[in-house]
Amino acid sequence: MRSIVIGGGVAGLLAARVLAERGPVTVVERDTGSGARRGVPQGRHLHGLLDRGRRIVEELHPGFTDDLVAAGALTAEPLVDTRWYMHGRRLHPTDTGLRSVLASRPLIEDVLRHRTLAEIVCATAVSLELDAGHVRAVGLADGTVLPADLVVDASGRASRLPDWLTEVGLGRPREHRVDVDLGYATRLYRRHPGDLGGDRNALVSTVPRSRGGGAMAVEGDRWLVTLAGLLSDHPPVDDAGFRAFAASLPTGPIGDLVAHAEPLDDPVPYRFRGSRHRRYDLQRCLPEGLAVIGDAVCSLNPLYAQGMTLAAQQATALRSWDGHRARDLHRAIGRLCRAAWQIATRADLALPEVPGTRPLPARILDSYVTRVQRVGHCDPVVARALIRVANLADPASALLAPSLLARVLRPGADRAIHHEQRTWMAT
Ligand SMILES: Cc1cc2nc3c(=O)[nH]c(=O)nc-3n(C[C@H](O)[C@H](O)[C@H](O)COP(=O)(O)OP(=O)(O)OC[C@H]3O[C@@H](n4cnc5c(N)ncnc54)[C@H](O)[C@@H]3O)c2cc1C
Repeated sequence: MRSIVIGGGVAGLLAARVLAERGPVTVVERDTGSGARRGVPQGRHLHGLLDRGRRIVEELHPGFTDDLVAAGALTAEPLVDTRWYMHGRRLHPTDTGLRSVLASRPLIEDVLRHRTLAEIVCATAVSLELDAGHVRAVGLADGTVLPADLVVDASGRASRLPDWLTEVGLGRPREHRVDVDLGYATRLYRRHPGDLGGDRNALVSTVPRSRGGGAMAVEGDRWLVTLAGLLSDHPPVDDAGFRAFAASLPTGPIGDLVAHAEPLDDPVPYRFRGSRHRRYDLQRCLPEGLAVIGDAVCSLNPLYAQGMTLAAQQATALRSWDGHRARDLHRAIGRLCRAAWQIATRADLALPEVPGTRPLPARILDSYVTRVQRVGHCDPVVARALIRVANLADPASALLAPSLLARVLRPGADRAIHHEQRTWMAT
């Protein structure tokens, strides 16, 4: 079977990895550079690889984490080496059994690219060729036609596949969307061993109302600092504005780092209007021999850091697919997207300004999750459960286990701050 993958980002490279088990694979990528590529503008911004995603990639590419570490990445126990703030207060430090790898997105991609067995062609895909309801080839901008038995669209959020399907009379997929108008601004700083007290290599402050940010130690002795604001409250990209936004976060250390560390570049912006799920799983007429993976099918609010992990899960679904009925694959990928979509959009819809419907059960669950986060400041068992679910290591239902419910709902559980906790909560 000859496969063509359109797009050589994380999703495309993982798809190429699994399809190489079945025959020759060509990746068509319009921007074949390395490092921070223009084809992936989000690549300059902080990318956390969730533990679930790291484990899947490690299965596909044994030694992946070691390759990143050899290239200068650090690894971290999420709640010990990272200070994780929610609602302005730090989650209780505790062992989670997880391992985060701290690397820039370009490094993750470079490691995956070096390991790929596929041929990578520098070209822009512009059309699909069909015959008798089956995809037969991909047309390139220079007029070349590449024949294929299977075509995977991994061309990202701006995928042209809906237009191409419309051109051949098959129509666009339905699209679900939740708009949040999120702005990112990111800047690199020089990192010294004693920064931030010397004992932590990442800080994450989630967005309680609209502002948040993260600082991650990445390869090359650098801090990658991303500031984020929802609902049009975007961080500025001039020096003074970036510093002022960082200082306005409810979490002190990110502002301190930005105030004192040496910047290595200028802040770069990114605007993300909202999450999108293209429902290929619901589309009646789709050609055989076509798969859609990664942001091309489901692009989620990046604050929840699910994108690369979802792409890895989808690559696993592609690997398990028998290659016959494309509909079975679209359905399997649709199930994975819906699970991730629930997590990302439910959190967004907790903000009253975000347009969308909020059924009563979802609202009850939201208040429960907010309480989980607050109790997580005081109770290491709850903090551990929360971070394992956030890393997709455990299902969301783990937060409803009877033993956890009892801890979370205990009166005063969110205020039980003991003397020794005051020391680390202040930092
Ligand atoms: C600001 C931001 C921050 C994020 N942070 C995180 C995070 O913390 N953790 C996380 O897991 N995910 C994060 N994500 C999501 C993550 O970037 C993606 O979900 C993930 O990388 C999968 O993307 P992809 O490979 O599907 O698409 P992309 O990474 O967009 O790659 C698509 C590729 O296709 C190529 N291409 C496009 N069209 C064509 C064409 N016609 N012909 C040939 N090539 C083409 C492009 O050049 C590009 O290389 C973030 C996203 C954004 C926007």
